[in-house]
Amino acid sequence: MRRKLAAGNWKMNGTTQSLKDLSALGSAHKGSGVDILICPPATLLAPAVQTVSRSDIRIGGQDCHDQTNGAHTGDISAEMLVDAGASAVILGHSERRADHHETSEDVRAKAKAAQAAGLLTVICLGESLLQREATNTLDIIGAQLSLSVPDGATGENLVVAYEPIWAIGSGLTPTPDQIGEVHDFMRTRLERRFGAGVGRSVRLLYGGSVKPENAAEIFAISNVDGALVGGASLSAKDFSPIISALEAS
Ligand code: PEP
Repeated sequence: MRRKLAAGNWKMNGTTQSLKDLSALGSAHKGSGVDILICPPATLLAPAVQTVSRSDIRIGGQDCHDQTNGAHTGDISAEMLVDAGASAVILGHSERRADHHETSEDVRAKAKAAQAAGLLTVICLGESLLQREATNTLDIIGAQLSLSVPDGATGENLVVAYEPIWAIGSGLTPTPDQIGEVHDFMRTRLERRFGAGVGRSVRLLYGGSVKPENAAEIFAISNVDGALVGGASLSAKDFSPIISALEAS
């Protein structure tokens, strides 16, 4: 049985004031039947870990370097995330693929380093609108999946998030059939590469304009094991009903 996961990506948002929302979320979902992960900016990692210490929320980073240390100004290693108390990291988000020209090979190297450090890796994949309109979605997802995910993946160290680029922050979401098609495809590919046991144990998240209003419909789709949420994860008022919808699914 895959344990469902509600993950929040705060991106470059949040100051110490935001910890109040984190605290409220922790109280509201104490003893939750689903996993809850919040990935704040690096400046808030350590205080966020402190804030959730008596709740069931886990804290993660939004990226890491593939090296353990060295002359890489502005970067953070997987070991540093662990040292700050993080237990997970988002890798290959489309904003990093676009803004920092990260390739799937880069993502794979980072994921290898993160998994070696003991972090749960949330690897993001997704097609652009042009690629979807050209009916290339499954080719793009298949290539990103095989190139971004390192060998040795397990249900404990890997989560895959399907995030169509055109749905992120846009208010647009794919139809349930479109989401189901990609998630079923990713499941089949993971089973084929890692074997049925591992392939079935990896959690698959949907991400892209998940809101309290559409969460229940998305969580009812086959092979959707939760969500990676951007904007709506910034406030407990919006993220809490999404977690509740996942708990009820
Ligand atoms: C994201 O960036 O991971 C994301 C899903 O953003 P949003 O929920 O705001 O569309």
